[in-house]
This record gives sequence, C-alpha cells and structure tokens, in this order.
Amino acid sequence: MTEPCDVAIVGYGPVGQTLAILLGQRGRSVVVLEKQPAAYPLPRAVHFDDEIARILQAAGVGAELPRLTEPALVYEWRNAAGETLLRIGRGGMGLSGWPDSSMFSQPDLERVLDARAQALPTVRVRRGCEVVDLRSDSTGIELAVARADGHRETVRARWVVGCDGANSFVRPYLGATVTDLGFFFDWLIVDLVPFERRVWDPLNWQLCDPARPTTVVSGGPGRRRWEFMRLPGESLADLNTEATAWRLLRPWGFDPGNATLERHAVYTFQARWVDRWRAGRLLLAGDAAHQMPPFAGQGMCSGLRDAANLGWKLDLVLAEQASDAILDTYASERIPQVRQVIDFSIELGKVICVADPAEAAARDAAMTAAARETGLTPPLPTPAIGRGLLAEGDPLAGRLVVQGVVRRGQALGRFDDVVGGGFVLLSAAGDPTRCLPAPLAAFFASVGGVGAHVGPGAPVDDVEGRYARWFAAHPVGAVLQRPDFHVFGTARDIEETPDLVAQLQRVLAAGGGR
Ligand SMILES: Cc1cc2nc3c(=O)[nH]c(=O)nc-3n(C[C@H](O)[C@H](O)[C@H](O)COP(=O)(O)OP(=O)(O)OC[C@H]3O[C@@H](n4cnc5c(N)ncnc54)[C@H](O)[C@@H]3O)c2cc1C
Repeated sequence: MTEPCDVAIVGYGPVGQTLAILLGQRGRSVVVLEKQPAAYPLPRAVHFDDEIARILQAAGVGAELPRLTEPALVYEWRNAAGETLLRIGRGGMGLSGWPDSSMFSQPDLERVLDARAQALPTVRVRRGCEVVDLRSDSTGIELAVARADGHRETVRARWVVGCDGANSFVRPYLGATVTDLGFFFDWLIVDLVPFERRVWDPLNWQLCDPARPTTVVSGGPGRRRWEFMRLPGESLADLNTEATAWRLLRPWGFDPGNATLERHAVYTFQARWVDRWRAGRLLLAGDAAHQMPPFAGQGMCSGLRDAANLGWKLDLVLAEQASDAILDTYASERIPQVRQVIDFSIELGKVICVADPAEAAARDAAMTAAARETGLTPPLPTPAIGRGLLAEGDPLAGRLVVQGVVRRGQALGRFDDVVGGGFVLLSAAGDPTRCLPAPLAAFFASVGGVGAHVGPGAPVDDVEGRYARWFAAHPVGAVLQRPDFHVFGTARDIEETPDLVAQLQRVLAAGGGR
C-alpha cells in the first residue's frame, strides 16, 4: 500500500478544482479523481459575485479574471408589456474588492483553474478515473477506482471530499437525507456566439412574458445566453432541438447567418440540499450537497463558498493544529447560508416561471404596486453563515471583511495580494500582532496569522479609503479575519487583541465556537 494522500477529491468540476488548489497551495497532497477523460466543454454557469472573485483571487487566478469576465451592473425583470418589475443592481465594486456581478463562460474558467491546479507540485489530477467504492476505517478511506483503460486500482486518503456533482456517487455513503422543495421547471438553454459584437442594454434581463418566459444574459465576453421555459403541453423532445433553438432565437434577430449556436440543452432546475455534509472522514461540497434554480446565478458560487470554508479547516486538521471537530462547523455554517440562497433563487423563479396569463397579470400588478412603495430595487438579502467557528457573542462574527486596494512599500494592489491571505488581524490603530504576548504571537504565527496596520498613510496604505470607511461603519479597534474572509471576531480596542487570539486558540482546540 502506498502512502495515503492527505485529501482525495472526487470530481473535477469548478468546486473540486478550487478545493484542490486551496489545499495544494498549503502544501497538502491531493489526488483528484475525475471519471471523465476530458473537461466538459460546454457552458453552464455564467455569473459569479464579488466574494467568489475574491475566492478565485485566493486560488491564484485573479489576474486572469478581467480577461475572462465582463462586469454586469444591472439585472432587470420586465413584463410582456416591457415595464420593469424589478431591477437588481448594486452597481460597481462589491465589498470583496471585485465587481458585484461578473459574467463568464464556465469552460474558460475551468481551463484556468485546471492550469493552476496542475502547476501545484502536490496536486495530482487523474482523469478517466471513476470512483466506484469507498471504505472507511479509523485512519483513512480507501477509494476503489475504475480507470478508463479498464484497470482497477485503490487510492488511500486521510480525508475524502465528494465534489461529484448533482448525481453524486459519494453522497449516499454519508447516510444523508435530501430535502427537495419540489421546484421543478424545464428550461431550454441556448448559448450563442454572435459574429459581431454589440452593446446589450441591459446586459442581463428576464422577460417575464407568460407566452414564453425567457432569460437573456451575457455568457461572458463575446457570448450570449438565452433560456426559454418549457410551456405547458410542450414536449421535451420538441423543445430540445436545434431547429427549436433557432426558431426561438429568430425574434431576437439571430439566425445561422449571424451567429454560431454553441449548444442547446434542456435542464430541469431543482431546489434541494443535503442535511449532512460530513460523516467521519467523508465530506461533500458543491452540487453534490445542494442545487438551486439558476435565477440568482448562485449554484457554482455556493460550491466555491464550500471550498473556501472547508479548505483552511481541513488544512488545520491535517497540520494537527485544530481538532477535527472543527469540520462539523463546515456544515453548521454553510447549510443555513445555502438555504437562504436557495430560498432567494426560488423567489426569483416564482416571478419568472409563470405561463398562465391571469397569474402573470396578478404578479405584474402586485410587483408594480410594491415597486411604487419600495422602489424597483429592493434591498437584496445578504445570506450569512450559521453558527460555527466564530467568536462568542460578537455581532460582526461571520460577516465578510472588506477588501480594498492598498500600498505597502513598492507593492500596490488588492489587499490579499499585497498583505496575504490566511488569518489576518487588521486595525486602523496599529499592527495588532504587536499587542500579543510571545506565546500567543507564536500560536498566531503557527496558524499562518499576520497583522496589518491599515489606513490612509498607514504602513498598509488604504489608498481608496475603503478600510477607513469600513472601520467608520464598524467602530471596533481590531478585527480578526478568517482565511475565508469572514470575521472571526473583533476587539473593541487594539489592546484587547490578545483576548481575541486566545479565543481563536481555544476554539480551534475545542472544535467550535458560538
Ligand atoms: C443552465 C445552468 C446555468 C447555471 N448558471 C449558473 C450561474 O450563473 N452561476 C452559478 O454560480 N452557477 C450556475 N449554475 C450552476 C453551476 O453550473 C454548478 O453549480 C456547478 O457546475 C457545480 O460544480 P461542481 O464542481 O459542484 O459539480 P460539476 O461541475 O457537476 O462537477 C462534478 C464532477 O464530478 C465528476 N464525477 C461524478 N461522479 C464521479 C465519480 N464517481 N468518480 C469520479 N468523478 C465523478 C463528474 O464527471 C463531474 O466532472 C448553472 C447551471 C446550469 C445547468
């Protein structure tokens, strides 16, 4: 038997890729097993938000994002008469230091993530390797692998993460139950590459026309995506043809003479999640753990949040710097958050998935009345993580920390690139690590912690004033940021930082927080 790897990842979609990178960057030995011999070449996800861009930045592909994406300012919802029912747009730069909304093509992103993963010396990506059995014991898990060349082999790992998508093979091994909200609608997805570029205004919108509910969005630079809902009485076979795709595109001014049809496919959108994301040494992430209708563009985003939440916790457990009980906080933090995102996606779905004219008229009247009261752009939910590895009783714990552009010495760029990721102690009043007594400073350094005195003119110069504004809005003396950019906790005063770090030390040893 060869040495077990630290982590075996089953499935090499965007979630498996990101997790492999986040672990590989920390020097963990990772084997990724992917049953398909080649990458899935066709588009699926087209949108991610600013937090996801920051996670991709942490995965070392931030420099590629401007080339791969186009920012979207507004996402408009119009009725059949062309009246705006809803306008989702937060406009510009998000809290995490990237555009609020970025449009992209999933195969392009996966190519970039693949190159990054393959460049890491401790990550091995093995395509054409289907996991067909799992056997756990007290020290690890054995994965039975059926190779595309007909051979069988065994891989041994200390931890296994199933990132194996909606039809997860790994999921049943956790003994988990699936909660399904029964929100099923069939949509024809059509991806187009127009021969000529044109300006789309709005870039992204929903036509809430009961005669054919339709999504019209960017598919990333140079690409457009249409999604057409299946109407009552329409058969899947009739809908899912190239001829139907062109017929439905014609009113939008497209035909084979001015665009290439990249693909067409019918998807049944679902809303479901798994109640258990860990059983012993086995974990789940991404579509294997949750699926949602794509109206909020959050399916892949949710999976990347899983990877960001799990990566550093697994690393600390493997380094024996934390009890493995901290892995239970992965689900306790992420499930409540993903449920809120699923609920929001369904609420949006209920607006568009209406094929009955009377129902659509009632919806239009209700939404127009609501818009008169509260405006067309209602406040968006900001789904927060649940209880977990957080400081006790701190109202800011679990919120995201801002990222801005900073200068330190000659280096100018986004904070994470200039100062680094991992645990970060930030303060506008000085470097909080200077307040730590030697044993706490040694502990903090051992978990990769760094300090930053950030502010206009400070050693970490807040060139855009984003940190000054954040500290003005949250009057605390210091904040301890986790490696996934959430607040672990705050100190009223920079001198109280030792209590905060001592709390982190206790929580890592005990395996949980509030
Ligand atoms: C039409 C559509 C639009 C969408 N739009 C958006 C959007 O705008 N924004 C967004 O965030 N999300 C969106 N999504 C969702 C997004 O595409 C998925 O959430 C994302 O691809 C899931 O990634 P994953 O890595 O979890 O799973 P997948 O990408 O499905 O990867 C799972 C991998 O596991 C492999 N595998 C399975 N079983 C085994 C096995 N036994 N052994 C080895 N390998 C195995 C599979 O071959 C596959 O490669 C959209 C989805 C669709 C369909």
